Order: sequence, then C-alpha cells, then structure tokens
Amino acid sequence: QADTNLSETKLNDISSARPVQIVVAHEDDHAFELDEAALERILLQEHVRDLNVVVVSVAGAFRKGKSFLLDFMLRFMYNKMSSSWLGGHEEPLTGFTWRGGCERETTGILAWSEVFVVDKPDGSKVAVLLIDTQGAFDSQSTIKDCATLFALSTMTSSVQVYNLSQNVQEDDLQHLQVCVLTLMFLIRDWSYPYEHPYGLEGGKSFLEKRLQVKQNQHEELQNVRKHIHSCFSNIGCFLLPHPGLKVATNPNFDGRLADIDDDFKMELVSLVPILLSPENLVEKEIGGSKVTCRDLVQYFKAYMKIYQG
Ligand code: GDP
Ligand code: MG
Repeated sequence: QADTNLSETKLNDISSARPVQIVVAHEDDHAFELDEAALERILLQEHVRDLNVVVVSVAGAFRKGKSFLLDFMLRFMYNKMSSSWLGGHEEPLTGFTWRGGCERETTGILAWSEVFVVDKPDGSKVAVLLIDTQGAFDSQSTIKDCATLFALSTMTSSVQVYNLSQNVQEDDLQHLQVCVLTLMFLIRDWSYPYEHPYGLEGGKSFLEKRLQVKQNQHEELQNVRKHIHSCFSNIGCFLLPHPGLKVATNPNFDGRLADIDDDFKMELVSLVPILLSPENLVEKEIGGSKVTCRDLVQYFKAYMKIYQG
C-alpha cells in the first residue's frame, strides 16, 4: 500500500528542479537548434561533469502519456530507497507534466534539470539524465523532422524508451534508423492481454512476432526488420495496460494514484525499476568507450552539426 507522502525535503528537490528544453525544432524552416548554454548548465555541474553518464530517454508523439510516465520515473529517482516510491494516494503528479495548458506543445528534446548521482552495486558512481523527446510523429509533413529528432535523442541516450499507443505500426519501425545500446518499445493501452500478457514477458513474445522477417513480406519491410535486429544490442518490449478512464478523459485528473487503475500501477511498479534501478543502469558508450557528462555535451554539439548539414 503506497500511502505515505513523500518526505518534505524530497518534494523541495523536485520543486526546484524542472524540465528544460535543450533542443528546439522550428517547424517553419525545419531547423533544429541546440540550446548549448542550457545543456551546459545541466551537464557541467561540478558534482556530475566527470561521472560516466546514463541517459534514459522517452520518445514518441504528443499526448501519449510520456510525461505521465516520466513523472513516475522521477518519483522513483527521488524515492527509490522507499518501498512506497510510487507516491501517496491523493498526491498530484508533478515533474515533466505541465498543466494549465495555454502553452503550445513544442517539438524537441527536454531534459530534467537535476542530474541524479547513483551508486551502482559495483561501487562506481554514475550520473543519470532523464530526457523527453517529443514531436508530431504521426503527421506526414513532419515525419522527416521527427526521424531526425528521434535519431538525435537515440544517439545521445543509452536507453531509448519508444512510447507507442496500442500497437507497433510500420511507420514506427521506420524511425529506427540509428543505433543505441538498448531500445525498449513501450506499448500503452495494450488491449490483448489474453494473447500477450502485460509486462516484459508478454512484450517479448509480441515483439518477436512483430519483428519476424517473413518470406512473403515485401522486401522493404524485411529490410527494416533486419536493420533493427543488427542495430540494437538489446531490444525489449513492455506492454502496459490502459490506466483507466479518469486518466484518459477527466480534465481535472491531477495524476493521483487513487484515480489510476490497479493493473496499471502494478505494471508501473515492475517497469520503472527495469529502467532505473542501480543494477540496471546502462552507461552511455560511444565507439566502445564510456562517456562522461562533459563528453556528452561535445557529442550533442557534434551530432547537431551533422543533422543541420
Ligand atoms: P505526452 O504529451 O506524451 O507527454 O502525454 P501526457 O503525459 O501529457 O499525457 C497526455 C494525456 O494522456 C493526459 O491526459 C494523461 O492523463 C493521459 N495518459 C497518460 N498515460 C496514459 C496511458 O497510458 N493511456 C491513455 N489512454 N492515456 C494516458
Ligand atoms: Mg509531455
């Protein structure tokens, strides 16, 4: 029973930290811009800049529950020593979520301003950066832009969580042109638990089926699948149930656990530690070497140049 409220100091940490836009996409001229100063303020903080970095990114279209998930990931990062990290029953969810709504959704990459320092079981310290990559992945005119954005966040992250609604469509696979260490498909509102059960095991059997290369498939579809298999060293899939009608449709929903279906909360408790518990953290490597926060700033700049060209 996750009933205790988060301690006050933890809440203070959360309220001073915030999401910061580090890459902005200008839709009118299809240009991307890296806010170097913002990125440096985050990654060059003295206590993290020389630590190896773990970058966990959640990417996908607008309005598909990314911020909602990221807010629970934040709760885990701030309270992982507690068995009730999921939070209090009546406690509104805060973090990446912006409510009040006059703000237009911006295509781009957001980072959580606080970089978490975590002790791994082997005694090493790593820095954990959480990022949110969002765009209008579903509209044809911007598909190229979004592929670029997706590529950029994939190249700079160690775990890419690809947030999809209900199923994996052919278009979703075509975004996967670049390599990352770990790719986790996260399917929201999964509605066939009798075919593939919720969670990691069900996701595995679903994905194996979906990524199968078949003889009678069009060559292009076969190639996309072969490419994905050769590219990612670790591909997983997690099937999340629908969180319930209050979450999906009530405009006054503020994220409190009391309004979220039990099935969903149960799967959340299994998903978040798979991504973020100290023994599961994957340090970012580029060309076989681990990368520090300071290095990551340089990589971001270099990748931006490539994509701007
Ligand atoms: P984002 O734009 O991808 O960051 O989406 P948000 O996290 O802001 O959520 C968009 C809306 O979807 C909100 O009203 C959430 O309450 C709701 N939502 C969050 N998670 C889920 C989910 O798993 N399924 C459904 N159907 N709705 C969700
Ligand atoms: Mg969001």
